Amino acid sequence: MINKARAINQFLELVQIDSVSYNERGVADYLLKYFSELGYEVVEDKKSNEKVPSSNAGNVIVKVPGKGALVQADTIILEAHMDTVEPGVGVKPSITEDGKYVVSDGTTILGADDKAGIAQIIEVEAVLRENKLDHPPLEFLFTICEEVGIYGAFAVDTDLLEGKIAFVLDGGGGPGTAVIGGPDYYDITGRIIGKASHAGAAPDLGISSIQVMSEAIANMKLLKIDEDTTTNIGKVVCDYPTNVVPEITTFAMEVRSLNPESGKKQLEHVIGELKKATTKFGATLEYDVTQSLHAYHHQEDNPVIQKYRKMCARHNLEYKGKVMRGGTDVSGLTFNGIDAIALSAGGENGHELQERLIIDEFLEDIQQVLWLVTE
Ligand SMILES: [Zn+2]
Repeated sequence: MINKARAINQFLELVQIDSVSYNERGVADYLLKYFSELGYEVVEDKKSNEKVPSSNAGNVIVKVPGKGALVQADTIILEAHMDTVEPGVGVKPSITEDGKYVVSDGTTILGADDKAGIAQIIEVEAVLRENKLDHPPLEFLFTICEEVGIYGAFAVDTDLLEGKIAFVLDGGGGPGTAVIGGPDYYDITGRIIGKASHAGAAPDLGISSIQVMSEAIANMKLLKIDEDTTTNIGKVVCDYPTNVVPEITTFAMEVRSLNPESGKKQLEHVIGELKKATTKFGATLEYDVTQSLHAYHHQEDNPVIQKYRKMCARHNLEYKGKVMRGGTDVSGLTFNGIDAIALSAGGENGHELQERLIIDEFLEDIQQVLWLVTE
């Protein structure tokens, strides 16, 4: 029933519409037009755009009424994000000679993350319509700014959605694999303020902020802390002439953990080391901690997992429930009271120039979504 050529062509078309985070307008307009021409109720979620004003679009929501025997069934949300990482402008996709993959020309990412998910949803709708298949009411949710902090999914206007369960088409691993847990995520930014002084004439009157930062870093547990917890420093900036004792050093780091207690402990540890070092040298520490993700781990009796596992059992797919330290829109939807899991979209090597779409897997993933919405 799946029209393979059409699904692949749809994917090729989508990746050629630029939509780096905050610039989702092109894809949003494409989807608004595509689904309204089919006669569906289509809205742009203005509230999400008000909460994320730096984007030039809001989430796009499409309502597809239920049909036949399943018209009264519970609404199912199918979800994918519209934005991509950089470098993602001017993507030139091609199919490899062996016909197995879609790749970029190597100067940009491909954008299978997450245009593969969008192309899946478009194909699923086309198959349902052409074959007049029975299905529950469906809502398609296309979000903004996933890659920069899951902003669209957190900001979604839940008044616009009926559905209480969602399948986020933005994972990997092929049919049967689902992401059922995600991390706590802390963003720590700040600065160490020392004291400027002439490095040659009066170094003893200065406090070197870079020295304080180095001491703190040297005493920090970093990278993989335990099975659940990681920490990384992404930014340390201190830029002065060499004859000046550097007054200010700014920094940014993250702590993430699947285990809330371990995450909190690690957060306290890194802040503690920053404080110890600043005290030791008589400097000042200013910092901010933002928790942008809250850990979730769906239990086996969660309705969305139940529904997914039943489908797997019917079709002899081996179910694998994974917890992931990476963030997905699942975190944002779960936060908003929608039970969600992430399913495979068909891409691999996301966020790299070597990103590619595994064509067979992409098509099998469409099939599993069709089963989910027709049985
Ligand atoms: Zn993604």
